[in-house]
Amino acid sequence: MLAALFAARGGAKVTLLEKNEKLGKKVYITGKGRCNVTNACEDVEDFLREVPRNPRFLYSALRCFGPFDMLSLLSDLGCETKIERGRRAFPVSDHASDVTKAVEKGLRQAGVDIRLHSEVKRIIVEENCVTGVLLSDGRRLPADAVIVCTGGVSYPSTGSTGDGLKWAGDLGMKVSPVLPSLVGLRTKEAWPAELQGLTLKNVCLTGYSCGKIIYSELGELLFTHFGVSGPLVIELSSHLPETGKAEAALNLKPGLTREQLDQRLTRELSAAGKKQLSTVLQTLLPMRFAALFPALCGLDGKTPCSQVSAKMRAAIAENLQALPLTIIGTRPMDEAIITRGGVDVKGVSPNTMETKAVKGLYFAGEALDVDAHTGGYNLQIAWSTGALAGKSAAAAKKEGNA
Ligand SMILES: Cc1cc2nc3c(=O)[nH]c(=O)nc-3n(C[C@H](O)[C@H](O)[C@H](O)COP(=O)(O)OP(=O)(O)OC[C@H]3O[C@@H](n4cnc5c(N)ncnc54)[C@H](O)[C@@H]3O)c2cc1C
Repeated sequence: MLAALFAARGGAKVTLLEKNEKLGKKVYITGKGRCNVTNACEDVEDFLREVPRNPRFLYSALRCFGPFDMLSLLSDLGCETKIERGRRAFPVSDHASDVTKAVEKGLRQAGVDIRLHSEVKRIIVEENCVTGVLLSDGRRLPADAVIVCTGGVSYPSTGSTGDGLKWAGDLGMKVSPVLPSLVGLRTKEAWPAELQGLTLKNVCLTGYSCGKIIYSELGELLFTHFGVSGPLVIELSSHLPETGKAEAALNLKPGLTREQLDQRLTRELSAAGKKQLSTVLQTLLPMRFAALFPALCGLDGKTPCSQVSAKMRAAIAENLQALPLTIIGTRPMDEAIITRGGVDVKGVSPNTMETKAVKGLYFAGEALDVDAHTGGYNLQIAWSTGALAGKSAAAAKKEGNA
């Protein structure tokens, strides 16, 4: 949408081909329907720190059209935004549909010919120059430039079925293997399933790979039937090695030092006398978790508190602050917020988004091998690379005519 908008504003005659019945189907489900439209990050370097793969590739795109440009564009088109925690920007209305509506208004004002239910089957290339596209209904559409913004392969029900990656592969371009990212994680341990639906707030999750810390943050974690999810886990998933495997430790009491925790345990256990261990643990953990927790420490929850030895107390403290979780893989692609992998950025010019192999062929958005953490960064990558591709394609056309 942004590629079409900026190409049209740059003077090109633009046709936007969308196979769905409406524009921006994925945008509707972003930010739980509120659309975290960008991250109001003033410094490009700060933005790039949130992009674990190929961040430098985005430098020109972000300089060309950054987060504040997106916020102004939306405001100009009648969609006011607000900034929340972590600089996350949302439409004031909290309706993702207002973002799409605003951009659609801009597209119509710029004279873009929007064609819905129009699926592209392949890109037509002659002598290393793009000459148009072939639609699934057999029609050919000639073009001087084609900008592929078909997204990744996650949530394919929204239309992102990886068509652009296939076209790139067919044209001999390198495509990095795709993996799900920003997604729930499966654990080897079965106990998280017993706590399905339980959310823990203010806990610290640390991920390790080959003995090194790959992620450590404080926040919210959700137990599920497959393992763990929630903001901390979703974020950890983008730091995982390609195997999708890692060790993790959950600190359920990150606000206490080990000494403070031990003192608190000693105090509460000695005050509790004959009460059962699992009952006393309810002062430290949600009830369902307190019932299960002694078993995770190799203890019997029915043990009277007066019989809890120093060794047992140490095991409780250790597990309260470093409860082990073994990550054995991610949830499938259709549940992933983002696709990791895609069109190799080495085959695309970072200054224009034009491919090096085919003149007039551009790629933008999630189809490229760039992905970011949560916080509005992924949509901004799509807006920025789309805007740069659109401007570049229009400028190239003008140069060609001159
Ligand atoms: C549940 C969920 C929540 C998210 N929340 C956020 C968030 O709050 N903030 C954020 O920054 N990011 C979020 N993201 C990620 C963000 O939505 C994507 O990174 C972004 O939409 C990518 O934009 P894109 O234009 O590259 O691809 P897409 O948005 O996937 O758009 C690709 C479009 O191309 C069309 N298309 C595909 N193939 C063809 C074809 N052959 N012919 C014609 N049309 C075709 C598709 O129908 C689709 O409309 C979320 C993702 C998900 C799944």
